[in-house]
This record gives sequence, structure tokens and C-alpha cells, in this order.
Amino acid sequence: MAEEPQGLGSSNTSTPREIVRLFQCLICYRVITEPLMLPCGYHCCQKCQPPGRCPSCNNVHDSQHGRIDQTLGMVAACFEIELERLRVASLDMNLCAEVGVLDISRPNSESRIIYKFYQHSKLLAIWDLAQDGILGWQNDISYFELWPSPEK
Ligand SMILES: [Zn+2]
Ligand SMILES: [Zn+2]
Repeated sequence: MAEEPQGLGSSNTSTPREIVRLFQCLICYRVITEPLMLPCGYHCCQKCQPPGRCPSCNNVHDSQHGRIDQTLGMVAACFEIELERLRVASLDMNLCAEVGVLDISRPNSESRIIYKFYQHSKLLAIWDLAQDGILGWQNDISYFELWPSPEK
């Protein structure tokens, strides 16, 4: 019996989400520019140090215990340069996708927070939503490419 193909949003398509999560601040959800590594291994912006309990490990982190993670900051900067190339390539391809933000803590619900047309690849969609502060730590996206793309 043939196996059912896995749907969008299943584990095989979550990799771009996992990549972007590495660069997301645990507190404000945006892409980190000055990463502070917490004792639990997660990151937040220097200015966003957890005021109380860490949303990831639930411990109270002393602000003295975090350390600046210059490596992550450098990797994020390089990543951003590569993403710029992807942005140009997506436009050349005339890519168009429908993108929704999903609340994965409610798996069965139609829990779309936003929904819009988008002209870049999936990784960029996730990155840009994170940059805009729209993609929460627990959120994932739905991404459907439209082909041919609708006439402008
Ligand atoms: Zn932050
Ligand atoms: Zn923690």
C-alpha cells in the first residue's frame, strides 16, 4: 500500500521554521541583532532579558548569567546577506504564495492569525514575519505557492 504523502505543515516541511527559530528572540520574537545566550541555551535580545520566568525553560534567569553570543550575531548577519540573494531570485521567478500564520498549539483549529499574498520563498516568508514581530515562538506558517501567479 502506498504511503500517504505528508501534508504541508508536517515535520518534513518544518525545517525552515526551525532554522528561523534559532535566530528568534524568545521574548519579542523578532530576529535577534544582539543575541544574549541564556543558561538554558535559548537566546533573547540584550534589551529583552527575561523579566521573570523564562518562557522556554520556566526558570528564573539572573540577568548576570546570560552571555553575549557574538557567533550567533555574525551568523545571522551572513544569513541575511544570503537571504537577499534569495529575495532577488524569487522576484525573477515571479513567485507568488499564499501565506498564513498558524497557532500550532491548537492543531485542529483554523487558527490563522494573518493571511496574505507573498512574493518570496518559504524561508523568506518565515524570516520576514519574524522580523515584523508577527510570528510568535509557537507559531508556524502555511505556505502554498500559486502557479501561475495571478496577474497583477
Ligand atoms: Zn527581543
Ligand atoms: Zn531558560
